[in-house]
Amino acid sequence: MLLGLSKIIDAPGASVSFETSLDLSDLLFGTCYPVQEPVQATGIVRNTAGVLVMTGKITGRLNGICDRCATAYTSDVEFPIDVVLVTELSNEDSEDEWVFPLEADAADLDDIVRTVFVLNMDSKLLCKPDCKGLCCRCGKNLNFETCTCEKEIDPRFAALKQLLNK
Ligand SMILES: [Zn+2]
Ligand SMILES: [Zn+2]
Repeated sequence: MLLGLSKIIDAPGASVSFETSLDLSDLLFGTCYPVQEPVQATGIVRNTAGVLVMTGKITGRLNGICDRCATAYTSDVEFPIDVVLVTELSNEDSEDEWVFPLEADAADLDDIVRTVFVLNMDSKLLCKPDCKGLCCRCGKNLNFETCTCEKEIDPRFAALKQLLNK
């Protein structure tokens, strides 16, 4: 969806609000497509002393497979939108991933929502932030069971141990 901004581009203090939903079911994270339901984005673009600032939020639901324990899970997420819109990208701006160019006085909401969503996604999909994962030896899900396997020794400590034993 394109959000027309011609009314506020030259009008400091003016604003345009928006509300849209977007299908991100083709987004691949790791080995799964966790965004099976469209995400909702709401917010406002404000001309702040000549600079177009877009603020708002994206809400959605993830149906992921946990990277650590391989369990399927569902979680609701909410990501902030806080980006700057420019009529033309300068070299400096093009390195800033939170700056978006306008296309013919309009903001490409789909592109912005998609990019902001991806930038906010954790690199890992976890069923919970402190997921204990699976034991790398016996495969038990350590969130529910404990096992008696010896803990893997950190390679750095292993090297240190070797030094000390000399
Ligand atoms: Zn997990
Ligand atoms: Zn184990």
